[in-house]
Amino acid sequence: MDLLHNLQNIQSNIPEHVEIVAVSKTKPVSMIQELYDAGHRAFGENKVQDLISKYEQLPEDIQWHMIGHLQSNKVKYIAPFIYLIHAVDSLKLLKVINKEAEKNSRVIDCLLQVYIASETAKFGFDVDDLFSLLGSGEISKLENVNIQGLMGMATYTKDINKIKTEFKNLKRIFENIKENNTDLNIHLSILSMGMSSDYSIAIEEGSNMVRIGSLIFGPRNFTNSYGND
Ligand SMILES: *Cc1c(COP(=O)(O)O)cnc(C)c1O
Repeated sequence: MDLLHNLQNIQSNIPEHVEIVAVSKTKPVSMIQELYDAGHRAFGENKVQDLISKYEQLPEDIQWHMIGHLQSNKVKYIAPFIYLIHAVDSLKLLKVINKEAEKNSRVIDCLLQVYIASETAKFGFDVDDLFSLLGSGEISKLENVNIQGLMGMATYTKDINKIKTEFKNLKRIFENIKENNTDLNIHLSILSMGMSSDYSIAIEEGSNMVRIGSLIFGPRNFTNSYGND
């Protein structure tokens, strides 16, 4: 499997301003090293334990993206080095990230995950809760986190119109917050939506960061690929 070819293939089909996070979960460090050697830096993992293990084995300047659901009690393990946390889904978690960032004398960049799909058992803020959190002023008290944007996952379906509608909805929320926000540590610039099966639709609807795993690294053992950290 030619990983670099796969990555370049995707790169040549998307606009330059869209960043690709190579989702390396369940894949060996040798594969990550191969893309690193070709110049790629952004990699995504969804389990804290795997993140730490890969961080320790690979070059220091890799930008590690935590894309999975994150439990508060595990934040401390990734706080020293994490580049971007995609799936913040509660104020409680954000407060813990803030505290651990402060301990490490850092500001940690985060995305708020918004629940846009119609499936059950997906994580993220529902839209009303998101707006009430933003309106509460609570985030402005957290000086060691920086809200860089939003992340969302569409329903897993073959219905392209449904996926389109869900991404359109997230883009609308993103623009709405950008226009109305006055919070100093919220700077919405990243809209993380789209994965292997739906990244083209996501980009059409305004995504500027796509999280792509299987199209680059090949299929995963399904039972080991989703879920909690
Ligand atoms: C696994 C995963 C991806 C990548 O999935 P592919 O379909 O392999 O591209 C993207 N985002 C999240 C949150 C994931 O867990």
